[in-house]
Amino acid sequence: MLRVLITGVAGFIGSHLATKFIEEGCYVIGIDNFLTGSPENISDIIDHENFEFIEHDIINPIKIENNIDIVLHFACPASPEDYMEYQLETLRVDSFGTHNTLEIAKEKNSRYIFASTSEIYGDPLINPQPESYWGNVNTHGVRSVYDESKRFSEALSMAYFRKNKVDIRIVRIFNTYGPRMKINDGRVVPNFIAQALTHKDLTVYGDGKQTRSFCYVDDLVDGIYKISIKDGLDGEIMNLGNPDEYKIIDFAEIILQKINSNSKIVYQELPEDDPKLRCPDITKVKGLIDWKPTVSLDEGLDNTIKFLKTKLEN
Ligand code: NAD
Ligand code: UDP
Repeated sequence: MLRVLITGVAGFIGSHLATKFIEEGCYVIGIDNFLTGSPENISDIIDHENFEFIEHDIINPIKIENNIDIVLHFACPASPEDYMEYQLETLRVDSFGTHNTLEIAKEKNSRYIFASTSEIYGDPLINPQPESYWGNVNTHGVRSVYDESKRFSEALSMAYFRKNKVDIRIVRIFNTYGPRMKINDGRVVPNFIAQALTHKDLTVYGDGKQTRSFCYVDDLVDGIYKISIKDGLDGEIMNLGNPDEYKIIDFAEIILQKINSNSKIVYQELPEDDPKLRCPDITKVKGLIDWKPTVSLDEGLDNTIKFLKTKLEN
């Protein structure tokens, strides 16, 4: 039985990852300090015999008993509103936290998966973005706490790969959505859905012509699982996301139609350094693992709307 350590296990993606690895027959040790996650996200698995939870801030070292086959470092605020609120926590978890989890992987001879992000491409000058693109990043702007700590973590991971022969895999995750997103985390998917369900104005930032590509969480988790268990991917950096690209204004219209809401669209100021384009080139990962996104936006949104509706009712 593979023993897997997941940091950020009580978050949106971490909790889905834990469920997936348990379903695949693994033993999961999850770490979280509930900075942006919640106990509710792991309530389905907390009593599972193949799950163990440790409440811990991963910026501090931790001793793990027994062997670990795979370390997945997913702890980090991901919503722009969250990481701008928790600027220092974000910088620490993707520096000290990355260091501490890499040390565990080195000591235990584990495979190491780092949750990087499309944000390392900044405001990209080419579209879609392949892994070979070095990006166009403001190194000190408001988003830099996130972008630069992810870039630092990529560099640190690759140094452990080159110097310590740790089996590193870096996944650059593009905008992911689905059940367990916080209704008030400020990201566009929960914002628009909550606004449409409550008949409030949909807040489009800027002119709405900026693009994003939305991947359903089950597709993402399937890709991460396949990357985690396949041999021969050491040192690889892989984009994971859904290449179907939407202008934010068109995405707002889709939500209004799906929810049949009489909300209106209002335009608000574009946040500083908001990337104008974002779309993953997934040619590389499709060549390395047997994976492509399969959940349509329609189906993924249905599941997400259903989930967020229950949150509004409770
Ligand atoms: P999230 O905020 O829902 O989850 C992050 C989890 O990490 C939370 O449960 C939080 O409490 C925990 N955490 C934060 N700091 C911690 C610390 N110091 N010690 C222990 N736990 C800590 O975010 P998410 O959307 O699930 O994102 C998970 C990972 O995926 C992050 O690394 C994020 O950068 C990356 N990512 C997410 C997306 C996306 O679209 N959701 C896109 C790109 C990358
Ligand atoms: N956005 C928007 N209205 C909102 C929330 C976000 O127009 O209520 C825009 C935001 O400016 C960005 C895109 O939607 O261009 C995606 O934002 P999100 O915060 O979900 O993720 P990002 O890709 O910026 O990390």
